[in-house]
Amino acid sequence: MPKQLADMRTLELVRWNQKQNEQLLSTILPGHELKAPEHKPDMLYIGCIDARLDPIDDLKIPAGKALIHRTIGALVAGLKDGEALNASEAASIDFAVNVMHVKDIVIAAHTHCGGLGTCIHGINENDHETPFLKKYLKQLKDVLSSLAGIRDTEQKIHELEDSSVRNSLKNLLSYPFVKKAVEEGKLQLHGWVLDTATKRILEVDPVDLKFKPMAHIPEDHADHSATFLTSLFRGINPGIV
Ligand SMILES: [Zn+2]
Repeated sequence: MPKQLADMRTLELVRWNQKQNEQLLSTILPGHELKAPEHKPDMLYIGCIDARLDPIDDLKIPAGKALIHRTIGALVAGLKDGEALNASEAASIDFAVNVMHVKDIVIAAHTHCGGLGTCIHGINENDHETPFLKKYLKQLKDVLSSLAGIRDTEQKIHELEDSSVRNSLKNLLSYPFVKKAVEEGKLQLHGWVLDTATKRILEVDPVDLKFKPMAHIPEDHADHSATFLTSLFRGINPGIV
């Protein structure tokens, strides 16, 4: 290897790995070619684009089992007046629910999220430098307003992680086919905050909409579609979203 791994530019590393892969492939005998794993996803995982995360590897999800849609902060914008606010998000959800018929959709924010942190600290004052990022993050305007009373920055970011997931779950239900599938019991929604360091999952409890370690949520909450609908829209925890 020409340099230490840590010193290599990422593209350089990929090129080097490709050369290693070519050497390995050249040793495979005819008739023993590698086959692509089966593509049978039963989950759509919506996560952040953060470079420290890899949902497949972090959560040990087997290849072919989960569709992954990644966006800054794992935000779901949903529909407004029947129109998708984010075409890429809408297409991914449409494909997952209506073509692949996934059983679960996970919205997974994470700790130490640069995107959500930017909402708290503010982005560059010069709008011209990040016009699209600024516009994108505006979808959290109402969520941020609901947290205005929190003075401690760390606590505010923590609350924003939780509230952004609850908000995205609500927006996810603005897709009529998602709401229908949930009501029919064909689809379950899940809200997580993944610890960036430990990969521990905090999951929103559909009953009280609070985040708890996944292992602490009773298993009978697993089939919680109807509970989620009630909690998110009738406001068991009003004002928090
Ligand atoms: Zn992030």
